[in-house]
Amino acid sequence: MTHRIDLHTHSTASDGTLTPAELVRAAAAAGLDVVAITDHDTTDGWGPALRALPPGLRLVRGAELSCRWDGDQPPVPLHLLAYLFDPAHPELVAELTRVRAARLARGERMVALLRADGIDVDWPQILALAGGGTVGRPHIAQALIRAGLVATTSEAFGPEWLGERYRLPKDDIDVFRAVRLIRAAGGVAVFAHPRASRRGRIVPDELIAELAEAGLVGLEADHEDHSPAERAHVRGLAAELGLLVTGSSDFHGSHKTVQLGAFTTGVEAYERIVAASSGVTAVASG
Ligand code: AMP
Ligand code: FE
Ligand code: FE
Ligand code: ZN
Repeated sequence: MTHRIDLHTHSTASDGTLTPAELVRAAAAAGLDVVAITDHDTTDGWGPALRALPPGLRLVRGAELSCRWDGDQPPVPLHLLAYLFDPAHPELVAELTRVRAARLARGERMVALLRADGIDVDWPQILALAGGGTVGRPHIAQALIRAGLVATTSEAFGPEWLGERYRLPKDDIDVFRAVRLIRAAGGVAVFAHPRASRRGRIVPDELIAELAEAGLVGLEADHEDHSPAERAHVRGLAAELGLLVTGSSDFHGSHKTVQLGAFTTGVEAYERIVAASSGVTAVASG
């Protein structure tokens, strides 16, 4: 049997455009055997994804945690994929709640900066666009598109807009604390797109070695934001540190052009992730 495994996707519970139910149906239609739902800083999509899970599809419940590394100033933002953790772990729940609240405050401040420059974007409308999901810059990007100021999401992420000029930092989770909390909640931590220099500053390999010692289990190597050289570097580093490697689409529906299953994870890495989890949250089968 061939296994098509995509371990990084977003729904309307954060900044994707398919509902969790639509996401799992689309994953089955794309021929995936395993899909992970990894919305930013929330597990709100887990229930609806589970209830809609098509026969034959396996669902890995996860999240993508907004983290920061304080080893550089200003702190470097980075993303940890957390899989199969207890969604009721009190300290982890508290951190996710805090980060989502900080995202709201930051989004509103970014909109205020835009408005101060005479750019007609409306915070209540952006909140409505986010539909109760974790708010992020892609939602503000949609408002810029609607206002006719940019044509595409990637244009909205240019330096004159949300990529730099109007970008504000988020109040993210200390990355070592995040690794500890994911483990304490019985989950498995994988560093998302660790070398994606085209997205901004990246962290040094020494930090990744320290995170591996703290309990990080894997690195995402195959991702559209990594060049071939960056993918090769990540693979080499993972081999050196004894970490597994994943590949994933980081699908966001129509907020990005990448399709489900565009990059996939090998079955051995997937099985290592499942084996490393505590079993509090099991892989669900449709
Ligand atoms: P935020 O979490 O609010 O800082 O926004 C970051 C999110 O924006 C990422 O999770 C991606 O979904 C999205 N994003 C980042 N860069 C781009 C880009 N160049 N084009 C489209 N979406 C992007
Ligand atoms: Fe996103
Ligand atoms: Fe990410
Ligand atoms: Zn993502």
